[in-house]
Amino acid sequence: MLPPVKKDRVITHLPKCFSPNAALHTKAGFHPQVKAMCQAQKADAMSFNIAKVIVVGDVAVGKTCLISRFCKGAFSKTYKATIGVDFEMERFEVLGVPFSLQLWDTAGQERFKCIASTYYRGAQAIIVVFDLSSVNSLTHARQWLEDAMKENDPSSVLLFLVGTKKDLSTPDQLAQTEQEAIRLSEEIKAEYWAVSAKSGEGVRDFFSRVASLTFEANVLAELEKSGSRHIKDIIRITDSTEANYTPKRKSNCC
Ligand code: GDP
Ligand code: MG
Repeated sequence: MLPPVKKDRVITHLPKCFSPNAALHTKAGFHPQVKAMCQAQKADAMSFNIAKVIVVGDVAVGKTCLISRFCKGAFSKTYKATIGVDFEMERFEVLGVPFSLQLWDTAGQERFKCIASTYYRGAQAIIVVFDLSSVNSLTHARQWLEDAMKENDPSSVLLFLVGTKKDLSTPDQLAQTEQEAIRLSEEIKAEYWAVSAKSGEGVRDFFSRVASLTFEANVLAELEKSGSRHIKDIIRITDSTEANYTPKRKSNCC
């Protein structure tokens, strides 16, 4: 039997976005249909309890450290290039339902790109990582996204643009890079975050948000698939004010 999910992986409320100017949506809570579905405990019968997440970006921007900080709670200063791909599973509980993120860490080096790209397919979320202290890595973010999107359905993938190594930037540098990053994230319809794998700042909040939004998207997609009659049954048990909720998720581009 699996050990219980760690306390800080138990999500009962939708975590806040990092910047309301660059968020996938800014609703204060989970979609009422999703809450109803989980309350009705129909969730475990569904196929949405896992989400594939791919992490892409230039070499040495900090992809592996970001994943290690979250999954292992550790940070290593010594650089070890990722060969091809690696993956980690992280278990959550969202609204009482077991949910896992499958985090695919890819190699940024040109010679491994071909191997890595074969793992891009079927992602529910794409995390494009750049180094907040390297404007070049932000410039390359668009290309990484385009490559990852070639293998995926733009209408069902959630995008995140994550600046790492926040600890290395002065407040002035950070403000300048963030301005550009937020502009890009608006353009590509991604949610923007700035984090540090070294200090851990923002890392847990970020992945909780990824888990929550992918979970929500998976449940909604499943509800849509299972038909409107089923949805009506579930809606009936939600409170009437919440039933008026209209989702305003941005569509994805590229
Ligand atoms: P990847 O090639 O994108 O997977 O990059 P890595 O995660 O292996 O990190 C590359 C280098 O950046 C390593 O030497 C890390 O120690 C360093 N690094 C990664 N994240 C941070 C961070 O948040 N702060 C600082 N100061 N260094 C970092
Ligand atoms: Mg790596």
